[in-house]
Amino acid sequence: MSNQYEVIIIGAGPSGLAAARSLLEDGIRNVLLIEREAEAGGVPRHCRHPTFGLQTYFRPMNGHKWAARILKRVAGKYEIRTSTTVVNIKPGGEVDVSSDRGFETLKAKRVIIATGVRETPRHARLVSGLRPQGVLTAGALQQFIYLKKLKPCNRPVIVGSELVSFSTIWTLRNAGIKALALIDENSRPVAFRPSALYAKLMGVPLHLGAHITKINGGERVESVEFTDAKGRTQLVECDSIIFTGRFTGEYTLIRKSHLAFEPSSGRPLFDQSGRCSDPCYYAVGNMTHPADMGDQCYQEGQQVGHAVANSLKSEDAGSFSVPVSLAEVFRISAPNVIHCGEDGRGVVTLNVRVNAAYSGEIVIRDGQKELYRKRHRCMPERRVLLKNIDVAGLTPESVLSVTIA
Ligand SMILES: Cc1cc2nc3c(=O)[nH]c(=O)nc-3n(C[C@H](O)[C@H](O)[C@H](O)COP(=O)(O)OP(=O)(O)OC[C@H]3O[C@@H](n4cnc5c(N)ncnc54)[C@H](O)[C@@H]3O)c2cc1C
Repeated sequence: MSNQYEVIIIGAGPSGLAAARSLLEDGIRNVLLIEREAEAGGVPRHCRHPTFGLQTYFRPMNGHKWAARILKRVAGKYEIRTSTTVVNIKPGGEVDVSSDRGFETLKAKRVIIATGVRETPRHARLVSGLRPQGVLTAGALQQFIYLKKLKPCNRPVIVGSELVSFSTIWTLRNAGIKALALIDENSRPVAFRPSALYAKLMGVPLHLGAHITKINGGERVESVEFTDAKGRTQLVECDSIIFTGRFTGEYTLIRKSHLAFEPSSGRPLFDQSGRCSDPCYYAVGNMTHPADMGDQCYQEGQQVGHAVANSLKSEDAGSFSVPVSLAEVFRISAPNVIHCGEDGRGVVTLNVRVNAAYSGEIVIRDGQKELYRKRHRCMPERRVLLKNIDVAGLTPESVLSVTIA
């Protein structure tokens, strides 16, 4: 079997599958998708709540049904190697993979990295106390309940207040488990306000502005202690703690590769087409902006797929890149580099995240020249789109500065 491809896609989640779909539409024949899980489909495979499909099929769908539909669009048309992990990416489109076939090196003219996100686990949140069994993430809980049909807990406490934190109440309920409490250090929910009402309706007490001080237990979690918003110490007896959200991209491959990356976030440098510092490589989906909704990643994957197909058909002569510089209030911008060339001129959209809530004007300048000014209400972990930024006048000396007024 050949180990030479036109395009290799690392990760067969929504972004990778969408990119594959576009490559198919554009007539690119020799494409391989590589997926480390036993089945393709990515995270939505184990999301059984109807928050997917609105933009792709114009109706709400459960994640696993949506994943099956988007997989069907490319299955059988391209080879998808499951239970196969990419362990190295190297200059010029060489990737090392590991599977039960052993260790192989494959090569492609273009490689699309669509490796997604993971939630921040307990150790990275610096939570003190003992290390008993029963501490997991929302993603792991979904896999236990929906994929393995196991019941990993009976009396859990949820940590976090993002959309995924509230959807965890739903996941637990589907397995006949009631959450005892939802705890978060933010003073208002990170998700939209009605989600707090949802928790209330489901009878789950919400402790906002609360900080976990200790996890107790021998073999298994027995209780969690926290300081509430009024400074009082509280203890909830429970058998597990589910840490939710605080998504971080799957950057392990990037960090040990030749690709240029942002030391602060670990994300590769990539432009508005997803192209990285080695033009053989493209990045797309949640690994570039942890974490957007499934449909949003699917649409982005389609755009990057078309961009990759175009890059295979035409040379990009005389181009240059302009860095995006962020004021302190901002955590990340996607893309983090603007490509200026024949295919890069015109307008771009930046997808940014803030470190803390901010309401006011966002201004983008190239030196003294103002390119964008608009009022935004920004919440941490929620995407903010800065649309239609005119980048036609950028020069090789430009820096795109994103600031607040
Ligand atoms: C717990 C959780 C709950 C969510 N709930 C919702 C929701 O309710 N509604 C919604 O719209 N969105 C939800 N999302 C977000 C949604 O799942 C993402 O937007 C979407 O899955 C992103 O697609 P992706 O392809 O970028 O990443 P993923 O879906 O994460 O896919 C990446 C794929 O890459 C594979 N991979 C990673 N590294 C390698 C490697 N080295 N080699 C081979 N394969 C690799 C992974 O196994 C995975 O299948 C949730 C996300 C999480 C984590």
